[in-house]
Amino acid sequence: EYILRVEDIHKKYGNSEVLKGVSFNVKKGETLVFIGPSGTGKSTLLRCINQLTVPEKGQVFLRDEEVTNSGSKINYFRQKIGMVFQNFCLFDHLTAVRNVEIALIKVKGMKPEVAREKALYELRQVGMEDWADHYPAELSGGQAQRVSIARALAMDPDVILFDEPTSALDPELTREVLEVMKKLAQEGMTMLVVTHEMGFACNVANRIIFMENGNIVEEGSPGELLEGE
Ligand code: ADP
Ligand code: ADP
Repeated sequence: EYILRVEDIHKKYGNSEVLKGVSFNVKKGETLVFIGPSGTGKSTLLRCINQLTVPEKGQVFLRDEEVTNSGSKINYFRQKIGMVFQNFCLFDHLTAVRNVEIALIKVKGMKPEVAREKALYELRQVGMEDWADHYPAELSGGQAQRVSIARALAMDPDVILFDEPTSALDPELTREVLEVMKKLAQEGMTMLVVTHEMGFACNVANRIIFMENGNIVEEGSPGELLEGE
């Protein structure tokens, strides 16, 4: 019944233990928001989930398949566990639609015509189809982030990880990205979100997880946590 299970993840950089045994489970369709001071390992945790960072100890399962120690199958899991970064990570020399379609062609082996159609469909989902032929430099940060969300969606992910997706954006652009994320949550996408946006956490999250010093210190629904104030 859980789509994602994270069990006892430990991660060190040098002598510093950044994650000290983090465990939690995620049900299909849940939106989890991770909150906590800077440097407490939230970003590292997301990276451990799709193995951009390899933990020393602990396991991650997507449905019943192990993501950690999955060898060459990791490329499959990285499609199924999409990631959206603070700084968009788009290719500057490719238009919006090419940024989305290139992954479909290279990673999924789609034919260019089919990939183009799917890329345009995903851009439409984030309200960016009118900007398909624009380069990242011609887009606002909010628009660029929506393209990077479309790129993640194009892989037909089971889960999307968002690492401070609006931290580089001013408030108005933040709002347009959060609206897209809210829509995805309402459509049943499973999402793990590191953010400082408390409005999003309270209104969209099913569960809020507080991290401190490499551990989960508290978790609950927004309602439960607010009642405790
Ligand atoms: P958060 O997302 O909660 O701000 P991070 O996971 O980014 O925390 O970082 C946790 C700690 O790990 C910080 O002290 C950070 O400097 C350190 N850290 C993160 N990535 C690396 C890395 N690649 N090499 C060394 N230290 C790192
Ligand atoms: P965030 O918390 O948003 O992930 P950071 O500034 O902590 O941003 O990290 C940005 C990048 O730098 C990440 O790839 C992270 O792994 C790396 N990094 C962070 N801290 C260190 C560090 N002390 N030494 C080496 N790399 C680091």
